[in-house]
Amino acid sequence: MTDRHDDAGWIEVICGSMFSGKSEELIRRLRRAKIARQRVIAFKPKVDDRYDEEDIVSHDDRRIESIRVADAGEIPDYVGDDVQVVGIDEGQFLGPDLVAVCESLADSGVRVIVAGLDQDYLGRPFEPMPALLAVAEYITKTLAVCMRCGKPANRTQRIIASRERVVVGASEAYEARCRHCFDPDEALAEDEAAAEAGDAAMEKALARSRSSADLS
Ligand SMILES: [Zn+2]
Repeated sequence: MTDRHDDAGWIEVICGSMFSGKSEELIRRLRRAKIARQRVIAFKPKVDDRYDEEDIVSHDDRRIESIRVADAGEIPDYVGDDVQVVGIDEGQFLGPDLVAVCESLADSGVRVIVAGLDQDYLGRPFEPMPALLAVAEYITKTLAVCMRCGKPANRTQRIIASRERVVVGASEAYEARCRHCFDPDEALAEDEAAAEAGDAAMEKALARSRSSADLS
């Protein structure tokens, strides 16, 4: 069994849109480390309660046991001196301390692997992931397949009406889109469109009831 050495640490970031296989790739790397009998510990944010209370679960139902934390500041409390690999999923929800926490772990010899969204539903940088990219040794950008045209997709399109930055889980609320098919206005315009569609449906129903009244 290999021991942890102070000079052995580094940071790996796996980032991309939803449906790009970030959690899947994180789980794959953590599993490989476990097979090598390295001491591995995994974390995910408490905000992410989809599928399972404790495990990190990818969309294809691969899973690995994890500890749920409210923010990155809680992570060091769980990382003993014997831990060699730390995995973190949904890093975009763990707050600004994530960068300092990962740096400190890497400095002390830990291999830190963080998966997360690099952009929000409007295509804006999703902190703290961009800051983490700047200090990471290794970056993997995962790509999904555009659900409109089939090209490589690195954006997350929200397809329900909400201006909240975080609408967790609900894969039906999002689509992977390429840069050409991505339209941030769609998520914002849905409110009005839904209201107009509602009005139109109401008018049609009224017209129908009027015409049936005429016939009777
Ligand atoms: Zn497309």
